[in-house]
Amino acid sequence: MNIDLHSHSCQSDGVLAPAEVAARARANGVDWWALTDHDETSGLAQAAQAAGQLGMGFIPGIEISATFCQKTVHIVGLGIQADHPALQAGLADIRRSRFARAHQLDALLADCGIEHAYAGALQYVDNPDLISRVHFARHLLQAGHVKSLQQAFDRYLGEGKRAFVPTRWALLEDAVAWILAAGGKAVIAHPGRYKYTPQQHDALFSAFKDLGGQAIEVVTGSHTPAQYQRYARLARQYGFQASRGSDFHAPGTGRVDLGAMPPLPDGLTPVWADWIQESP
Ligand code: AMP
Ligand code: MN
Ligand code: MN
Ligand code: MN
Repeated sequence: MNIDLHSHSCQSDGVLAPAEVAARARANGVDWWALTDHDETSGLAQAAQAAGQLGMGFIPGIEISATFCQKTVHIVGLGIQADHPALQAGLADIRRSRFARAHQLDALLADCGIEHAYAGALQYVDNPDLISRVHFARHLLQAGHVKSLQQAFDRYLGEGKRAFVPTRWALLEDAVAWILAAGGKAVIAHPGRYKYTPQQHDALFSAFKDLGGQAIEVVTGSHTPAQYQRYARLARQYGFQASRGSDFHAPGTGRVDLGAMPPLPDGLTPVWADWIQESP
């Protein structure tokens, strides 16, 4: 079975509507799918309905921006009851931080000679409740300030670059607690992508385990094949379940399309084992 439990729609920083992501997943042969927009659940109802019409299994998800050791870490929640009040209150706080950051970003870009970037980014925002660095990157590209989205991050938006705004997101413990309170499983997203020291990396895994976090992503569009093996070993070592997800954002961008990854390495317990035994 093809199971893809990490993807984005235009309700966060993707470009397709939730129903369009569903259709693309199905066309790519996905049997079970999760939409996991950043800090936002407003796409889940449309996603669930579209998946149902396509005969595809659906798991409601979220990707929460959190801060651990002063760096951003993404925690995916799977199987959440999206309307849980503590979860919704936490997500609303994060979305407010995103708008505060966007105004700071506008000022830093102005210092770099790029005026009115906030207004420019807004042109790419579909969901009036959520703004992302990706919306700024699309504007910088379209306005000719950079030659690619990657260059927008490398020159301006990436960590430590000229227009980077360090932001305090949710505490790791709060992000995990909201997901568990909403009946979901907490999953460390793309663990190979963080620039933690080895000690901080261990501390993240240990703290996450102690908080009740259940799983890590092993096969993701953000990992190399060597990282599939490394995180498979770490999942076994820490007793984490394993997840698989493309982290799809838009056609033609990113390393992999929906469903287009190898299966999980052997000897792991899939995060979906409790939910999925057969085709939908
Ligand atoms: P934000 O959550 O607004 O800080 O934006 C983070 C998002 O930017 C990630 O989820 C990716 O979609 C995207 N992103 C981060 N780093 C890069 C990069 N170097 N190149 C392209 N996209 C990136
Ligand atoms: Mn993203
Ligand atoms: Mn992420
Ligand atoms: Mn993601």
